[in-house]
Amino acid sequence: MIYLDNAATTRIDEEVLQAMLPFLREGYGNPQSQHAFGREAANAVISARDKIAYAAGCAADELYFTSGGTECGNTALKGVCSARGRGRILVSAIEHPALLESAKDMQKHGFAVDFVYPDASGRISPQSVKDALKPDTVFCAVMAANNETGVVQPVEEIGAVCREAGAFYYVDCVQSACYLPLPVGKCDAFGISAHKFYGPKGAGALYVKKGAKISRLISGGMQERGFRGGTVNAAAVVGMAEAYAKARKNAAAAAQKVGALRDGFVKRVLFEIGGASLNGGGEILPSHANISFEGCDGENILFALDMKGVAVSTGSACSAGAVTPSHVLLAMGLGESRAKSAVRFTFGKYNTADEAEKTVETLKAICAKIRARNA
Ligand code: PLP
Repeated sequence: MIYLDNAATTRIDEEVLQAMLPFLREGYGNPQSQHAFGREAANAVISARDKIAYAAGCAADELYFTSGGTECGNTALKGVCSARGRGRILVSAIEHPALLESAKDMQKHGFAVDFVYPDASGRISPQSVKDALKPDTVFCAVMAANNETGVVQPVEEIGAVCREAGAFYYVDCVQSACYLPLPVGKCDAFGISAHKFYGPKGAGALYVKKGAKISRLISGGMQERGFRGGTVNAAAVVGMAEAYAKARKNAAAAAQKVGALRDGFVKRVLFEIGGASLNGGGEILPSHANISFEGCDGENILFALDMKGVAVSTGSACSAGAVTPSHVLLAMGLGESRAKSAVRFTFGKYNTADEAEKTVETLKAICAKIRARNA
């Protein structure tokens, strides 16, 4: 089996798993409990927060543990709307549904929603954000790197534009965290998710800059200094801390290794498969390759690759039995047929050159077959 869907999730790192196991076995206390079991778990949570803060370059009390990227996005958008009471929301048209659907939810509560669009390469320009911000825009979300194309966004410049306009700026760093430094101090909040950098699923961290105005989303006990109720999963946050520290330490080497695999793959695909074109341009994460295959349906390629043991994805969404093409590629103005023929290949640290080679060969045969059938 060849796994080329590392943007969806990654295989857990063995060292991460080993760091977690003691807290699933004997160290299973509730971090809120006032006995030795609880203290052991609470100390592990404190150390995990310190470790992530140190690796990210922020203060430990600027981090809140969550269930992942979706909760980070929901908390940021809804928490700011709740704190501000009224106003406009600005989201990029290429955001993850965590932000797009949250914005829709807030529309029902009287907030107006504006969109900012990327250019054909998938990049959102700071000027277009500046133009879209209105005097009553309270919240803006433009992600650090897109999950479908891997295109990296000018977060620092967009942060400056939002600061000037007085809008809270949230950066979804779920895809970028494995390779790029986090935008500490350059935004009001950002979110990360452990399962995208070889950590466990269901664990994330929300950074909120000191002094930023935001209300909580999840009420309950006094966990996370009263900002996010619910028993903290000590094993998961220990795993996330181990995974993030390791990812930061190895970021340059990983980017080089994964980027070389991806580049070699893209080069061969574009050269050897007619009608193949890369979606997205400029700076792209080392992991991502989003490629359209003219005359082929992306979903058909996905299923055929799956039958041959290669796991990839498309950015298409399935709703009510109908397949709608990727909202990201459509927002880039690529057109419906190119968007429908897109496949996302995402490489990770466990992939090999041999796997990349085999995938090119398999893909070549699949495209030829689909095209012959359609001819
Ligand atoms: N944001 C981005 C850009 C993502 O790619 C994902 C997951 O694919 C999420 C948010 C959601 O993260 P999680 O799965 O941790 O909820």
